Amino acid sequence: MKTLIFSLLSLVTLAWGWDVFTSVAPAGANTLWVARQEALHLSGLLSVAMMSLVMFLATRPAWLETPLGGMDRIYRAHKWAGITAVGFAAAHWIIEMSDDILKAVVGREGRVDKEKFTGFLEVLRKLAEDMGEWAIYAVLAMLVITLWKKFPYRAWSILHQAMPVLYLMLAFHAALLVPTDYWAQPVGMLLGALLAAGVYGAVASLRKAIGKSLQAMGEIVSVEQLPGDVCAVRCRLNPTWRAHRAGQFAFVTFEGKEGSHPFTIASADRGDRTIDFQIKALGDFTKGLAQRLQAGQAVRVEGPYGRFDLARRNPKAGQIWIAGGIGVTPFLAWLESLQAHPQQAPTADLHFCTRSQATDTFAERLSTLCATLPSVRLHIHDASQGSALKAHALAATNKSEIWFCGPVGLGNALRDGLKSMGVIPRFHQEAFEMR
Ligand SMILES: Cc1cc2nc3c(=O)[nH]c(=O)nc-3n(C[C@H](O)[C@H](O)[C@H](O)COP(=O)(O)OP(=O)(O)OC[C@H]3O[C@@H](n4cnc5c(N)ncnc54)[C@H](O)[C@@H]3O)c2cc1C
Repeated sequence: MKTLIFSLLSLVTLAWGWDVFTSVAPAGANTLWVARQEALHLSGLLSVAMMSLVMFLATRPAWLETPLGGMDRIYRAHKWAGITAVGFAAAHWIIEMSDDILKAVVGREGRVDKEKFTGFLEVLRKLAEDMGEWAIYAVLAMLVITLWKKFPYRAWSILHQAMPVLYLMLAFHAALLVPTDYWAQPVGMLLGALLAAGVYGAVASLRKAIGKSLQAMGEIVSVEQLPGDVCAVRCRLNPTWRAHRAGQFAFVTFEGKEGSHPFTIASADRGDRTIDFQIKALGDFTKGLAQRLQAGQAVRVEGPYGRFDLARRNPKAGQIWIAGGIGVTPFLAWLESLQAHPQQAPTADLHFCTRSQATDTFAERLSTLCATLPSVRLHIHDASQGSALKAHALAATNKSEIWFCGPVGLGNALRDGLKSMGVIPRFHQEAFEMR
C-alpha cells in the first residue's frame, strides 16, 4: 500500500521536475513568485493523482488483488490515498491563498503572469476555479467525518456517494487549469492517464456498475440464530458464481435498500454453489438479522475477493493462526477445506480468542474440525478465565508466519508485543474494517 502511494507520488514529482528543469522561467519573474507557482502546480498534481488513484481503486479491480495483497488492502490503499489527496488539496488551497502575503512581502513586481485565454475557454476556466474551490471544501469535510469513527457508517456511506461527483469537479479543475505546455510533456501524459483512470472509476460508480461482473444471484437455504448474537446463513447461488478459495469474502446484499455488506465465506468450496456466512450482530443492520431473513429469500453475492488464502503460505515457515471472536470465519473455511485431505494440512498452531468459552458458538466447532487434523493444534484463550492471548504465548520466531483475523486492537497489541521481544514474523492480517 505504502509502496503504491509513494511510487505514484514519486512518478508525478519526477514528471513535474522534468517540466521545471526543461522550461525557462519567464523573464523578470521573481524567484519567490516562481516558487509559489511551481508549488501550486506540484500540490495540485499530487492531489489529483492521489484522487484519481482513489477513484480507480473504488472500482474494486479484482486483477490488482494479487499484486496488492487482497481487496481489504486495496480498500486501505483507497483510504490512505484519499487522506493524502486531501492533504495535498489543502496545501494547494493554502498556496493559492498565499498571494496576498507574497504581495505584501515582495510586491507585485516579478509576479508570474497568468496564461491568457478568451471567450468560452476563459468562462470554463473561471468555472473550473470555482468548482475546484467548492470541491476542496467538500472533500475536507468528508475527510473529517471519515476519520471521526463515531460518525454513523450508514450516514457516512450515503455522503460518500458524492465522491465521484466531487472527483469529476476536481478533474475538470485540473484539466482546465494546468499550464498548457504540460500537455506536450511527460507530466501532461501522466496527468491525462490518471484523469482517464479516475473518470472511469467515477463514471462506473455513478452508473452503479462496480463489481457487476462478479455478482451472482441466489437464495437463502437456511437461517439459524446461534448463541453469542451470531446468525448463520447458508445460501445457494446460481451458476454464474465462480468457485471461491477458503478464506475469501464477498459483498452480500440480503435487503435491496440496505446495500451490500462484506462477509467472509465461512465454508469451503463444496462444489454445489452453497456458501455459509456467520454474521455477528455488530450494528444496525446485523442486529436481529436472523429474525428478518428466511429460507427462500433472494440474495445477491459479489465476489469472491481477498487473499487470506492458505495456498499463499510459505511452506517453510512455522504457521501461527490467530482468530479473535468473529474473526474465526476464514479459519472455519480453511479447516473445512482441509477435511477432505487431512494429511495435506500444514503443521500449525491455531489460537482462538473468545470472551467466554462457555457461551461461545465457535469453540466447539473448531474442536470438531481440528480433531480430524492432527497437525493443527488448537489453543483456546478464554478471556473470562483470565487467559487472554499475549505475544509470548505464540512462541513465534522471525521465521514464523502469522495469519491474523480479529479486532484491530488485538492485532496491534500482538505485533507490538512481538516487536518488543525482537521478533518480526511475516504478519498477514485480514481487515474487517473498510472505512
Ligand atoms: C473483508 C471483511 C470480512 C468480514 N467478514 C465478516 C464475517 O465473516 N462475519 C461478520 O460478522 N462480520 C464480518 N465483517 C464485518 C461486517 O461487514 C460488519 O460487521 C457489518 O457490515 C456491520 O454492519 P452494520 O450495519 O450492522 O453495522 P454498523 O454499525 O453500521 O457498522 C459497523 C462497522 O461495520 C463496517 N461496515 C458497515 N457496513 C458496511 C458496508 N456496507 N461495507 C463495508 N463495511 C461496512 C464499518 O466498518 C462500520 O464502522 C467483515 C468485514 C470485512 C471488511
